Amino acid sequence: MMERKGRHPESEMMSYGYKAKWSEGSLKCPIFQTSTFVFESAEEGKAFFEVAYGIRDRRSDEKEGLIYSRINNPDLEILENRLCLWDEADDCAVFESGMSAISTVLLETLKPGDVILHSDPVYGGTDHFIHHVLKSFGIEQLSFNPGDTRQDILQLLDESGMRDKVKLIYLETPANPTNHLIDISMCVEIAKMLSTDDKPVYTAVDNTYMGPLFQHPLKLGADFVLYSATKYIGGHSDVIAGACLGNFELIKRVKTMRTFLGNMCGPWTGWLLMRSLETLKVRMTQQCENAQKVAAVLDKASCINKVFYLGLLEPGTPQHAIYEKQCLAPGAMVSFEIKGGEPAAFKFLNSLKLIQLAVSLGGTESLAEHPATMTHIGVDPATKERLGISGGLVRISVGVEHHEDLINDIKQALEQAQCEILDMEKEVVA
Ligand SMILES: *Cc1c(COP(=O)(O)O)cnc(C)c1O
Repeated sequence: MMERKGRHPESEMMSYGYKAKWSEGSLKCPIFQTSTFVFESAEEGKAFFEVAYGIRDRRSDEKEGLIYSRINNPDLEILENRLCLWDEADDCAVFESGMSAISTVLLETLKPGDVILHSDPVYGGTDHFIHHVLKSFGIEQLSFNPGDTRQDILQLLDESGMRDKVKLIYLETPANPTNHLIDISMCVEIAKMLSTDDKPVYTAVDNTYMGPLFQHPLKLGADFVLYSATKYIGGHSDVIAGACLGNFELIKRVKTMRTFLGNMCGPWTGWLLMRSLETLKVRMTQQCENAQKVAAVLDKASCINKVFYLGLLEPGTPQHAIYEKQCLAPGAMVSFEIKGGEPAAFKFLNSLKLIQLAVSLGGTESLAEHPATMTHIGVDPATKERLGISGGLVRISVGVEHHEDLINDIKQALEQAQCEILDMEKEVVA
């Protein structure tokens, strides 16, 4: 890696890890659309393989050789180096999807007979992988809810009789779609309590919702941070990708597993993500500013029971205390429960003109969806009820549009759903 001279990550995203002289003076890193790389000699090829296959360690004077694009490729390596800067991670592995990053870490850290302890709810694909794929390999799961205390979790472990088998604690915070927060450092402490000399218990955090700008789980002691780079990192709703970051030793294991599963991202995806990283901070900062304004308006609507937004957490509550401890900003995901259940929610969604009706999140355009019948349709009814995923719940991913246009669109759609926005000034006077 190159010297950074203590600059901020956003100042490094245009050039870090790349030298123009490597590519005919090209200012931008080209797309290395190649499957394989030419060795200068047979001896060099042999040396590259010895290091790549862990037959011997790399000598300090030796560069890591390019071999074959399933093992390494400049677009992936430079992208990985740049992603490391946001989370101050040792190393990173990029994947062809968020799900491939997640499933590769789960397959690398869990073996038959092991148990995964995870927060609930988790992303639908992750939930399926844990409950069906891992289960078929003899890996059991235990789950806890947002709001559960250390005592609750320890009691759950004791009552399950599986305490000694836990190998991984897997968290998703803020939880989708309700923005409930899980205390990352509390879970890291539990993982340490469960660890023994010959059985480390790791903590992995899906940081898709907040990161890599507004939450840094590795700094709170987590071992793995995971991203669907499809969302904020890609940021333009035009690419599917994923990433995993952590220390050198763990990411080396993840990269080895990736080599044999063959689920690394391609050079074109790597190049697109590098392009996206140049605007990551301006995009996320603007999206977060817009979301605060949108949430404030929703909070004043007479037909809305509750707005789930980190910027509206009440000081003095346990959720607010976790927010203060681990989040740097409230992000740009807003959910709310409209009175009148599914019919009112559908009327609202069908009346939107600027905001588009689609799942996914984190892109430059604002999107709205109905979790109970779309992203979370597979969640069983009792769990939906417990987690507050009701018929009236609407989720909005706020984009970079002008906030007045977003608010006007939301107001007119709320009116179509027979809703009134209460004017704050008038309220105060009354
Ligand atoms: C989208 C998403 C995923 C899955 O990512 P893909 O890129 O679609 O594979 C995982 N976790 C969260 C929180 C997500 O939003």
